[in-house]
Amino acid sequence: MTDGVNAEAIWSHAGRQPRIAIIGAGMSGIAAVVKLGKAGYTDLTVFEKSNRVGGTWRENTYPGLSCDIPSRWYSFSFALKPDWSHRYPYGPDILAYMEDVARDFGVMDKVQFNMPVDELQYDAPRWRLTTAQGDVQDFDVVIAATGVLHQPVVPDIEGLQKFAGACFHSARWDHSVDLVGKRVGIIGTGSTACQIVGAISEQVGELHVFQRTPHWIAPLPQKEYSPSWNRLMARFPVLQRLAYHWYFQILLHTFSAATVGNRFMQRLITRICLKHLKESVPDSALRAKLTPDYAATCKRLILCSDFYPALARPNARLVTDSIARIEPGGVRTASDQLHELDVLVLATGFNAAAFILPTRVIGEDRVELARRWDGAPRAHRAVALPGFPNFWMLEGPTSPVGNLSLITVTEHQVDYVISMLDRMKTDALSAITPRQSAFENYNSAMGEAIKHTTWYTGGCESWYIDKSGVPNLYPWSPAQYLEEMRNPDFSEYHLLS
Ligand code: NAP
Repeated sequence: MTDGVNAEAIWSHAGRQPRIAIIGAGMSGIAAVVKLGKAGYTDLTVFEKSNRVGGTWRENTYPGLSCDIPSRWYSFSFALKPDWSHRYPYGPDILAYMEDVARDFGVMDKVQFNMPVDELQYDAPRWRLTTAQGDVQDFDVVIAATGVLHQPVVPDIEGLQKFAGACFHSARWDHSVDLVGKRVGIIGTGSTACQIVGAISEQVGELHVFQRTPHWIAPLPQKEYSPSWNRLMARFPVLQRLAYHWYFQILLHTFSAATVGNRFMQRLITRICLKHLKESVPDSALRAKLTPDYAATCKRLILCSDFYPALARPNARLVTDSIARIEPGGVRTASDQLHELDVLVLATGFNAAAFILPTRVIGEDRVELARRWDGAPRAHRAVALPGFPNFWMLEGPTSPVGNLSLITVTEHQVDYVISMLDRMKTDALSAITPRQSAFENYNSAMGEAIKHTTWYTGGCESWYIDKSGVPNLYPWSPAQYLEEMRNPDFSEYHLLS
């Protein structure tokens, strides 16, 4: 591989720092810069398509935006925050936290803003990166920190373009549109829609919620932290660390366990959701429409306390009739009823098979990543791919791990990448790339194991399921994944000198 290549061109031969490109300045990009820096890798350039850090927390600004992972855990382990205002953080607070961390840890100096990356091409031993502006730079290592859910899906519904009122996707919220007193329709009843419905129901004139499938919804035990409690946290940082691990362990052994086969937890979650529904919705007909007929946790479990009460309000209407088409005046359903609307919100989710795409990534032998994946993205241990040397993904395919805090997962993946770089340095390697056999063994074991999870057996459709027909998720215990990340098995890789 290195024949004819000047030794100076290979960072580990020349004894210099690797030039590392990080794509994306969201949560993963921030974690990568900080952790790589601490490990001594400081020649870092972050390419950010937008003008701000924060990723999903920058792009989503819809009313009610919040996170159903506790704030004391939805934090970088190296930057715990004593003064979260709530147990479950609100979107603007998370964005402010991301920006604070990026500023305090010197991430901002590394970021090139408004710099989308169009193409990455492997030309051994380097990656050639081309930005949308046509700037070309070479890097030794590329880390894709582009997130999972960043490409909004606009539903293919007849007449959508002809709607006369305001219409926008939840991730492209139009804040110039005043909802007060308006007739508002919302398509979708996933995590996003539930938060929006809860937040806007009191101000709108009419609320029409178009539900294709009912979701399982557990109550969110929200709580505001008192100033005295937060002062105590600040005074004794050990309490912050205890809280971080407390929430981590609780979620690991309850919700995460239920998704990968813990029947007791599965039944418990089902009971909690049904109790929540019964207590929130007195009307038995409405309750019946909201009761799922598939297993809880098959789709992403929703934690939200104000969706059901919002639907029980007199100005709200749950529409379960399927949508026939959209007309200038509103949404017409299969029973030929027109729901007249001023505003239509599309809370219809994201293309979960994109990851770094649409950036064109070309590996060895000019193999294109988009072709290689063909709608069913796979990776080796979620972070690497045969034929794409020195290219690492954070939150790559199968990464959503047991609904753990994505920050925890990302941090472990960055540590894994650091182990690889350390190995390159000590052994003077030019490239590391997973063996095809290791990739195939890992993915075929995953393919078998996933068939025993509720995501597969639960009897639902969800964004977890890709073009191959199986959920694109890690099927074993989340604790096992973190262990895999802590202890890289180098025998799975070609280590090229
Ligand atoms: P989603 O879970 O994919 O939900 C999309 C909704 O739109 C579903 O109810 C779906 O119905 C409906 N839908 C899609 N196309 C439709 C069509 N053509 N006609 C009618 N209905 C249609 O998307 P999301 O709510 O944006 O959430 C995505 C993920 O983001 C979540 O699963 C979660 O992982 C993450 N999230 C997390 C939080 C948090 O607090 N941590 C908050 C928001 C989002 P079906 O169910 O029938 O497909």
